Amino acid sequence: MPAGERSERRVAGLTVTANGGKDTRDVADVVVVGAGTIGGWASWFARRNGAKRVVVIERDLAGQGASSRAAGIVRAQGGTREAVALGRWSIDFYNRQHDLLGTDSGFRELGYLLLAVTSRDEREGRERVAMQRADGLDARWLGVDEAVELNPTLAPNGFRGASYVATDGHIDPPRNVRAYSLAMQRSKVDLRERTAFTGLRCSGPRVVGVETSAGPIATERVILTGGPALRAVGRIAGATIPAGGARHQVAVSEPHDAFGVDRLPMVFDVGAGLYWRLEEGGLLWGMSNPDERPGRARTIDWTYLRRMQRRLRRFVPVTGDLGIRKVWAATIDYTPDHLPIIGPLITSDGEGVDGTVVASAAGHGMMWGPAVAKVAADLAVKGRTSVVDVSGFGLDRFDEQGRSPSYDPIALPFPIDLSDDPEE
Ligand SMILES: Cc1cc2nc3c(=O)[nH]c(=O)nc-3n(C[C@H](O)[C@H](O)[C@H](O)COP(=O)(O)OP(=O)(O)OC[C@H]3O[C@@H](n4cnc5c(N)ncnc54)[C@H](O)[C@@H]3O)c2cc1C
Repeated sequence: MPAGERSERRVAGLTVTANGGKDTRDVADVVVVGAGTIGGWASWFARRNGAKRVVVIERDLAGQGASSRAAGIVRAQGGTREAVALGRWSIDFYNRQHDLLGTDSGFRELGYLLLAVTSRDEREGRERVAMQRADGLDARWLGVDEAVELNPTLAPNGFRGASYVATDGHIDPPRNVRAYSLAMQRSKVDLRERTAFTGLRCSGPRVVGVETSAGPIATERVILTGGPALRAVGRIAGATIPAGGARHQVAVSEPHDAFGVDRLPMVFDVGAGLYWRLEEGGLLWGMSNPDERPGRARTIDWTYLRRMQRRLRRFVPVTGDLGIRKVWAATIDYTPDHLPIIGPLITSDGEGVDGTVVASAAGHGMMWGPAVAKVAADLAVKGRTSVVDVSGFGLDRFDEQGRSPSYDPIALPFPIDLSDDPEE
């Protein structure tokens, strides 16, 4: 081909260039797609890893996806060893943030009780505690009396015991958006809001740039996030990413003296997908409906919300007389095995794209987000990470139907099928 001549072909959003995309004047060491908690923190970690010019492209405004709408629950009590490691790393990061950044995500250690309602819950809960303890997490199995002693608002009937970790807690999701936005700004990450990712440029097996609604950027490293929109981001990049979105609802009760305290353990009724914690003198409770089809959250499902409010009243009788002060529904991200995705993009023809890292916390962006972001930045910039064993987190674990050999049983939301794409 004569010098300067450019050959390019597009495959389902993927642009393949023969000149390495070198005609693009806008250049970055790393481009991150999406400015939610994963993309935001990943861009900051990429800068700390030595990447000089980091550009984040966000189709909307930073944090306006799932990240500002979360309930903020953070736990190291995962259902797999890797989930435990991601949670522990993230809690440690939240605790160190103020020293590192001069700002923080508002982490508040409250402790977390994961209730066993059935005998099977109890058997699985005890096994989980043994696995977590073997990995060094200070998890304990508590009888009903011990659980009620720690959280006196719990009724002593209706559950058989609980696993407990004192160092679990919650962050304040809008404050987390503020924290990563400040961190990005201070480390001179170039955040481009209202700029959509529209395609990937490749030369052979390597990424050489991205296309955006504001023009192309030449780069050899791309981190692809998207939260509930990750499947659509994958489609734009010419890949099938088995990830989805589902409605998740959160309500906050009016204040009550029982909740006007400094510390009261959070509680998870795992089988029902109902959890609660202190919030502004009242109780925040969140829920996923296991029987609901996945898809975008458009409205509040008051029937289900009231059903879960009645269930909450059984566990925490004092909530019976409390009104609801606010409630919201938003789309939560998930993967079919409820484990994160962190690894190279694999295009629809089965080829891995060198230089890319797809990153999803699979609906656990508050509890695993910092660790997932750090791993993504490590893989993008250094090609390796010491945070966690990532060998089981790649897209190559999924078959064509999105099935995978592993599964995290302590996870919300419930969907495992990919029938509806929230972006369609
Ligand atoms: C109601 C609710 C409660 C939750 N509670 C908890 C909780 O208690 N604990 C917990 O750990 N997790 C919780 N989650 C999950 C958590 O919020 C998510 O896992 C996390 O926010 C995902 O972060 P993200 O950065 O991957 O996605 P997002 O925050 O959604 O960010 C992705 C970004 O990508 C952008 N984007 C998409 N497509 C494009 C494109 N083509 N070009 C450019 N940008 C694009 C989007 O605009 C968005 O800003 C909750 C979620 C919801 C909805």
